[in-house]
Amino acid sequence: MGFRRIQEIPGPEEVRDMIPVSGALKQIKAERDREIRAIFERKNDRFLLVIGPCSAHEEDAVCEYVTRLARLQEAVEDRVVIVPRIYTNKPRTTGEGYKGMGHQPDPRKAPNIVEGLKAIRRMQVRALQESHLTAADEMLYPYNIPYMEDVLSYHAVGARSVENQQHRLTASGLDVPVGMKNPTGGDLAVMLNAIYAAQRPHVFGYKGWEVSTDGNPFAHAILRGAVDLSGRSVPNYHYEGLIRIADLYRERSVANPTILVDTNHNNSNKQHNEQPRIGMEVMQSRRNSDLLREMVRGLMVESYLEGGAQGVDGNVYGQSITDPCLGWEASETFVKQLAERI
Ligand code: PEP
Ligand code: MN
Repeated sequence: MGFRRIQEIPGPEEVRDMIPVSGALKQIKAERDREIRAIFERKNDRFLLVIGPCSAHEEDAVCEYVTRLARLQEAVEDRVVIVPRIYTNKPRTTGEGYKGMGHQPDPRKAPNIVEGLKAIRRMQVRALQESHLTAADEMLYPYNIPYMEDVLSYHAVGARSVENQQHRLTASGLDVPVGMKNPTGGDLAVMLNAIYAAQRPHVFGYKGWEVSTDGNPFAHAILRGAVDLSGRSVPNYHYEGLIRIADLYRERSVANPTILVDTNHNNSNKQHNEQPRIGMEVMQSRRNSDLLREMVRGLMVESYLEGGAQGVDGNVYGQSITDPCLGWEASETFVKQLAERI
């Protein structure tokens, strides 16, 4: 085989022991999980807001951002539940480019998976400690879930992974919500099949074991827009598109049929400053339809300390090195406006 062994990767238990979570934080996580699940179960009408940078590449900046989110959470706590996006693994369209802190703890240096795993756990635990907000991450590598499962309250399966069986089966074993994005080509059946699959029990091979799962009733849809055959962005957050998913949901036997709208990616055509307008349009659509009010229960927003994006070599503190993000002030205004619209 053309594989060269570089170094052995420590198991999840070893890394968890090295970077532990206190009993108090475990309790916060259990409480947050209950709160977030209640949104999906329709026991709570607060709105879910998964918000944060496209990729979390700098621990200090990420923790400062999350601490600001915690203050904002207090200001809107009657109406909104904020889940920070702390994304540590990035899928790349061509396979090239920065693959996230899990690969490259220092974006300017060569990959180091062992140090990356430790760095992302350290960052997630510190962010939780400083903000008391449990976070969301992308499930890019399903076998890495046990390194982080005890600190995350939300997982997303990305547009490039949503058709993959191992992602779907792994999602079926988690007890927190897993958002299934529509694939980049926009085929809604792929996303709905992923939700259906994740909600069912399965037997499969996982990290050296034959395992069984119960199914995850909190698997749901995230609409992120699509690209057409000529590469143009096709948004799917407009009223008619949302109604279409709601109808498709009703044709299937799916628990807690829920939609989140991702306001960036191909919904904004990566025009990050369009995100508040898109979010507000979604809120208006909820007002126009009882069905949508019931099903559209959250947004996913790309936001960071500084607006826009820079190259991987950039030195701007708190600015994205992957997709452009909404800056802090605009994000704060947006979240407050959103809370008034719920
Ligand atoms: C992301 O959320 O940054 C991302 C890569 O999303 P998608 O899978 O929708 O492209
Ligand atoms: Mn992104």
